[in-house]
Parts: sequence; C-alpha cells; structure tokens
Amino acid sequence: MQPFETIYVDENVVACNGGVGALGHPRVYLNLSTEGKVECPYCSRLFVRGPAPQSQQQPQAPQTPPS
Ligand SMILES: [Zn+2]
Repeated sequence: MQPFETIYVDENVVACNGGVGALGHPRVYLNLSTEGKVECPYCSRLFVRGPAPQSQQQPQAPQTPPS
C-alpha cells in the first residue's frame, strides 16, 4: 500500500482541498495537533509542521578538471 502524501507546513492551520483530479474535495481547514501533525479526513494526506527532510539530496558532481 502506497503511503499517502506528506505535506510540510509552517503554520498551525492548513487548508486542504485534496489537490487536483480524483482526490479533490471541498476545501477544509485543519488544525495541527499539539504534536504538529494532522491527517486530512477526506484525502488522508498528512500535514506535518516543519521543514521537509532532505532525503532527496543530490550528491555533488565531481568537478572535471579542464584539459
Ligand atoms: Zn484533503
């Protein structure tokens, strides 16, 4: 089962409309819990307060010396 999308936010209240397409739903406002997270009851996306983890870091390409 695919994990639902996690969205990182910077506020205590988020608005979610499910995005575009089949997952769309009427816009709702969700209050983040004291733990700083809330799951949308419509589309099950998880909102988390804080910066997104740097999991997609690109390794630095080695510099090719000019020849
Ligand atoms: Zn939603």
